[in-house]
Amino acid sequence: MDFKPANNIQDLQYFGEFGGVNPSISDSSTYTFLSAKTMFDTFEGNADGCYLYSRHSSPSNLYLGEALAAMEGTETATVTASGMGAITPVLLQLCEAGEHIVSSRTIYGGTYAFLKNFAPRLGIETSFVDITKLDVVEAAITPKTKVLYCETVSNPLLEIADIKQLAALAKKYNLKLVVDNTFSPLSISPAKLGADVVIHSLTKFINGSSDTVGGVVCGTRELIDQLRNVNDGAAMLLGSTMDSLRSASVLKNLRTLHIRMQQHSHNANYLAEKFEKDGIKTVYPGLASHPSHDLFKSMMNTMYGFGGMLTIDVGSLEKANALMELMQERNLGYLAVSLGFYKTLFSAPGSSTSSEIPEEEQIEMGLSDGLIRFSIGLDADIERTYKIMKACMTELNILEPELA
Ligand SMILES: *Cc1c(COP(=O)(O)O)cnc(C)c1O
Repeated sequence: MDFKPANNIQDLQYFGEFGGVNPSISDSSTYTFLSAKTMFDTFEGNADGCYLYSRHSSPSNLYLGEALAAMEGTETATVTASGMGAITPVLLQLCEAGEHIVSSRTIYGGTYAFLKNFAPRLGIETSFVDITKLDVVEAAITPKTKVLYCETVSNPLLEIADIKQLAALAKKYNLKLVVDNTFSPLSISPAKLGADVVIHSLTKFINGSSDTVGGVVCGTRELIDQLRNVNDGAAMLLGSTMDSLRSASVLKNLRTLHIRMQQHSHNANYLAEKFEKDGIKTVYPGLASHPSHDLFKSMMNTMYGFGGMLTIDVGSLEKANALMELMQERNLGYLAVSLGFYKTLFSAPGSSTSSEIPEEEQIEMGLSDGLIRFSIGLDADIERTYKIMKACMTELNILEPELA
């Protein structure tokens, strides 16, 4: 039978201490032992099912981690206090001083800043490449390379990584393929396509209510155990631990992710088709004009669609700013960074979320001034939304007024 990630969520069965339909929340930072010997064994990692201290693990965090591992189809997972709190420990666990990373150049601004400005202080160098060109990716691999890093759907340009081919490259050179799947939960399952590690910022679609930051690393039991090791585990020692109360609330939101993704995708697809027809430069993986449309189709779990993210180019930063302010005034969404909210969110990535990337590099990768990134919301009547958006664009001379 086909792998259906949402079914994996649906099939999870956790009960609370008193038979509650939700698991009990572990409201403790430390745990008692009946025998001193068991405490010692737990420290050594030899006492399964025992909890020691909540920076290491807690029942609530394990529930959420197991649910996300089931969704991504990995052996296990560990949740973290933020997406960056998942990304940085993984890279520091997999790479030592003197080693090297090959990364997509179109990645989340914070990840880019970490690899470009911070990791070199620890002797870890990164080559940034166009991830859609496999020959360029392969040419950047050196004997020191340990990790191949990319986002399934890149931020903010919505380039698509060919996970199967990248996994084959990783295998050939004995690298770990680490994939940030934040933009395409459920739609694409990178581990199923050969990725070794799948990371999410839970802050975005998965939690979906813009009320917290959070992250997860999905991978093999071996890697997750290494990350949590009390002696040399990066997640354990850097301390980016999620709070139990928060993981319980993220778990509850995760249960409606499949319905939300279907609606985000439906609405984004509708708007992308309309904008493109109106002559606006639109990038959306669901459009036949997207350079990787067929690739996305070949990787996707069809029922969740092409995701909720799209970009349009309105020509200049002035026009982009005017349009975003007007759309906010008309209550079409919020001028805000982040994604995966019930409301549409929009921002101009060149001057916000990707401002860590120097201007020359922005131009080279096609990140133009007039670009607006949309995270399309859960609007019940997307046709109405479109009509109001179109009126805004006409008012600002982005669209020609229609000949009556
Ligand atoms: C937001 C985001 C991150 C960082 O996540 P935080 O939860 O803000 O730390 C990483 N990758 C992508 C693609 C993101 O959108």
